[in-house]
Amino acid sequence: MLRSMAERPRRADAPRGETATDSRTKPVVLVVEDEPALLTLLKYNLEAEGYRVVEATNGEDALVKAREETPDLILLDWMLPLVSGIEVCRQIRRTPDLKSAAIIMLTAKGEEADKIRGLETGADDYVTKPFSPSELMARAKAALRRARPQSGEENLVYADLEMDLATHRVRRDNKDLHLGPTEFRLLKFLMENQGRVFSREQLLDHVWGRDIYVEPRTVDVHIRRLRKAINVDGLPDLIRTVRSAGYALDIED
Ligand code: CA
Repeated sequence: MLRSMAERPRRADAPRGETATDSRTKPVVLVVEDEPALLTLLKYNLEAEGYRVVEATNGEDALVKAREETPDLILLDWMLPLVSGIEVCRQIRRTPDLKSAAIIMLTAKGEEADKIRGLETGADDYVTKPFSPSELMARAKAALRRARPQSGEENLVYADLEMDLATHRVRRDNKDLHLGPTEFRLLKFLMENQGRVFSREQLLDHVWGRDIYVEPRTVDVHIRRLRKAINVDGLPDLIRTVRSAGYALDIED
């Protein structure tokens, strides 16, 4: 598949005060809510749980932000200005990049028919207002576990290589390794999918994101840096190059 500059605008830089690694490895939650007080409360609780929060206060803005940020989880109010929650849900489910996002609908009390329609439209769960923040956080965690099976894990291990997801430390043979942010994300993805071969295009989509324009040969550059960083002291090469197919985290034989 051919990538053009027009189709793949460069992703905006990470917000100030946050490193690029943080902004990609923290789960991203889009909160769509038009009641300012509730929006503030949700944002506060989600950030306390370690999520990066993106806000939208109407349905139109929700669709724009969802496409820009490809959130892992969307908390979606039912009654919204401009475009209703149900329509936002429907459109998100039709967007290929957003298929894996978890959606929790926030519905008003007693709207049973709405709940059913919400689930039919592709919502994963719903929470009835008024709800306690702790109940919603528990639902959010469960939805994220389903959407991002690895995000609850603290460590990834492959052979003598170990990645601590909480501290971003990577060690091999008990020695600390120094990885750039892109190499970290690349290695994380390969460790999550050990032994599987990925083409350069697939690595671009998963590690750099679908909405970013990068030359496929950039992948080779970062693989080379990653190899240099992890293959220390004459230890075996952990990255397998598959001719004309791509790369895998796999001990070369
Ligand atoms: Ca509302």
